[in-house]
Amino acid sequence: MTVLTGRHYLTGDPVRVTVSGPTVAAVEPWFDAPPSETLPWLAPAFFDLQLNGYGGHDFNVGAWSDEGEVSDEIAPIYELAARTGTVQLMPTVTTNSLERMEQSLAALASVLDADPALQRRTPGVHVEGPFLSSDDGPRGAHPRSYILDPDWEIYRRFQDAAGGRIRLFTLAPELEGGLEFIERLVDDGVVVALGHTAASPAQISDAVSAGATVSTHLGNGAHGVLARHPNYIWEQLADDRLYATIIADGHHLPPSVVKVMARAKGRSRLALVSDAVSIGGLAPGLYKGGEREVLPSGRIVLAGTPYLAGAGHLLDTGVANLIRFAGVSLADAVTAASTLPAQILGLTPRKGSLEPGADADLIVFTLPDDGPARILQTLSFGEVIHAG
Ligand SMILES: [Zn+2]
Repeated sequence: MTVLTGRHYLTGDPVRVTVSGPTVAAVEPWFDAPPSETLPWLAPAFFDLQLNGYGGHDFNVGAWSDEGEVSDEIAPIYELAARTGTVQLMPTVTTNSLERMEQSLAALASVLDADPALQRRTPGVHVEGPFLSSDDGPRGAHPRSYILDPDWEIYRRFQDAAGGRIRLFTLAPELEGGLEFIERLVDDGVVVALGHTAASPAQISDAVSAGATVSTHLGNGAHGVLARHPNYIWEQLADDRLYATIIADGHHLPPSVVKVMARAKGRSRLALVSDAVSIGGLAPGLYKGGEREVLPSGRIVLAGTPYLAGAGHLLDTGVANLIRFAGVSLADAVTAASTLPAQILGLTPRKGSLEPGADADLIVFTLPDDGPARILQTLSFGEVIHAG
């Protein structure tokens, strides 16, 4: 039995949270608490639907290692995530040759099979590619040479390599066979997200009718210059059937766009993702054989270009930025980083809530005047996995 004390993230009231084994047993008022502004916040832990790697480690093992070695790549990413308040996370495998994508998925599967603590922090794997737009802009940093039209046999190969763990799939619905592919994925229990797309507004709407429920990092993976309206960004923003994920790292979207997207989607349809990549969190310089660069600001670009090549910040930064950029409450920002991601995967209220009976994936944190949230303690299923 563990008792945590602090301010409830939704109400601001001092509470005592009793954790019994892996579960929240009770959430009770804390009557003799010190003044509440001196207390840290208590909240469900962050939940990241899109994490490619971090701190020099890569979930895309197959992309950078000829042997596709599992090596020690995977566990350190979970460790770094825990320090920043993220417990549940979806390793994200991105466009490469089919063989290398399969290698990455198989490497993940073998590590997770062997490590129950990591497995239970993994609600599934996210595959982003190779069924994406080949247009410059929408394609982002996904290599054009590996872009393909949707193919069910390829999906089956990926799912086999991943041990059936693929739960989220990002694709461009306008590709040949896209709508039928979406329907089949949904029938197979996979959540379908639209991203890296150049679809017309009608194609977006058709994709949603076919079962897509999420926009992946809305506003990124898009043309640099786009018809003012109509276009696929407005269409996705306006479609209340779609959740939007956004990257609020301070580089992928200007603060004004974060604010407008937060207002358009509201607290019931907006989720934060990190989309962090392996060189995120590393010192400024060139990496990946000089292809990628970390700038002094932490911004990550294709070296020598202005094009972003993934994010360098995790959800402790995203939550703080969402509050500052969009003027939303701490309650709404935490909801976007914990409850909504869980809801997208159909895992609420067991995940992403601070209620009796929920899994005790919890954080204790403070929010400084600038910079990321400061995570004092992180619990996964009631076990302390980080104490700062
Ligand atoms: Zn992307």
